Amino acid sequence: MKTTEVPASVADALYSHQPSFDPAALRGMFTKGLNVKTFVVYCPDPRASGIPSAVAKEFGEVFPGENILDENGNKVGFTTNVGQLINAGGRAVDALRSITLLNHLLGFGRVVVVHHTFCGMTTFTPDSATDAYKKEHGGDLKKHYDSHDLYIGDFKESLTYDVTLLRNSPVIPASVDLYGYVYDINTETLHKVIEDLGTGKA
Ligand SMILES: [Zn+2]
Repeated sequence: MKTTEVPASVADALYSHQPSFDPAALRGMFTKGLNVKTFVVYCPDPRASGIPSAVAKEFGEVFPGENILDENGNKVGFTTNVGQLINAGGRAVDALRSITLLNHLLGFGRVVVVHHTFCGMTTFTPDSATDAYKKEHGGDLKKHYDSHDLYIGDFKESLTYDVTLLRNSPVIPASVDLYGYVYDINTETLHKVIEDLGTGKA
């Protein structure tokens, strides 16, 4: 392993290194500058890149938005209400840690999990992915992941599984609204499959 020094101009660009460091005040500043209300979990397939815009339209939010600058031209915020969590297939298992920490930081109220048509994850079956992986790389995926996390064989099943995984997680606040959608890559439209509103609703 080889490391190089971080340039002095950015080495201390961490909030915790600032003389006025105040964790509680910073969380307030983040909430104000990054007014994210919805996090969308989706796949890095470039054909699915329209998902955050479609979700913003569905919930009447701003995307992609633009930078908010202070009087010195520093970037202190952004106008979009939609945050993006991108992982293979758009799965809850990968997104869980990010949702937990980002919700603590930003306090958003909605997570939208989106799976898409003709996703690479739909080329697998529970056994085909793990058998081929074992043959080619020697590792046993089933030792590390639930088989539901390794393929998409039915959109209703995969979205229900993901929303349930988030709802049952003790580190996701019960107040967060959860949704599961399928995105059609050809028509660029969303289809709602599951809605599980949080406890904060009247
Ligand atoms: Zn995909």
